[in-house]
Amino acid sequence: MIETRELSKRYGDFTAVDAISFKVEPGQVLGFLGPNGAGKSTTMKMLAGFLAPTAGSASVAGFDVERQPLEAKRVLGYLPEGAPSYGEMTVREFLDFIARVRGLHGEAGERRSDDVIARLHLEPVLEQPIDTLSKGFKRRVGLAGAILHDPKVLILDEPTDGLDPNQKQEVRSLINSMARDKTIIISTHLLEEVHAVCTRAIIIAAGRILADATPAELEARSRYHQAVSLTAANLEEAKAALARVGDIASIEVDPQDNRITAFPKPGRQIFVAVSDALKAQQVAVRELALEGG
Ligand code: ADP
Repeated sequence: MIETRELSKRYGDFTAVDAISFKVEPGQVLGFLGPNGAGKSTTMKMLAGFLAPTAGSASVAGFDVERQPLEAKRVLGYLPEGAPSYGEMTVREFLDFIARVRGLHGEAGERRSDDVIARLHLEPVLEQPIDTLSKGFKRRVGLAGAILHDPKVLILDEPTDGLDPNQKQEVRSLINSMARDKTIIISTHLLEEVHAVCTRAIIIAAGRILADATPAELEARSRYHQAVSLTAANLEEAKAALARVGDIASIEVDPQDNRITAFPKPGRQIFVAVSDALKAQQVAVRELALEGG
């Protein structure tokens, strides 16, 4: 549904996006994960046809975003960073406007508007100018605009940025509910968001792809994957007990927090053995946890 080939963007001498190639299959929710300035927004802007690439190409549902811009935009919903909209319009006026722009007239337009109003719980603010809305409602209005024409592909640039925890949760549920019949790219700098909504993550930094994997595969690459951490009042006792566990490769001690992290030998699982050894030696443990990575 989405494909980029050596997609690049330069601003003068500066390369913001450096020959990025990836494909997104139908039904995938791809997370673009990376620090600020990594090139996530620039890549999304090129996919949405908002910026022209300096080199390379991109297509959406088989339509080249430069050579077939209208066809590509027709199947695409785009929420730009910060969800900009027309602040002086009321929510209803804005949605009517988007419906007309998308060529949805009469009953068809009304049906779609009613659907997104219900999905995004916009009833209480329909007659309110967008400028007077809270951040959470503004974001929902932006999302409503992006999905009004029921696009097959959604590109959401930091859809939960700046929202409070409840609002983040709400937007994530919405994305999950749309994932069934859409192909979605979302950008974020929050790992937890990748966990919450993505089937796959691309880590991008300085305009390049550093990793492309499922969230679980990324975790498995972490040094902390399958490590066991514990806090105990008496670290010497705990260390002595851990010395009896053969599959531990190394341990790290953090005396400030009374914490020990034990790392397994490659491919080994040590949680049960650690737990048993601590019990056998009657070490008083306050906390024992298996690390995800
Ligand atoms: P991200 O979305 O990952 O935070 P961006 O794609 O917004 O990153 O930006 C990537 C890099 O390109 C940043 O270093 C940014 O400063 C730079 N950049 C973005 N837009 C422009 C522009 N119009 N002119 C010059 N540099 C830009």
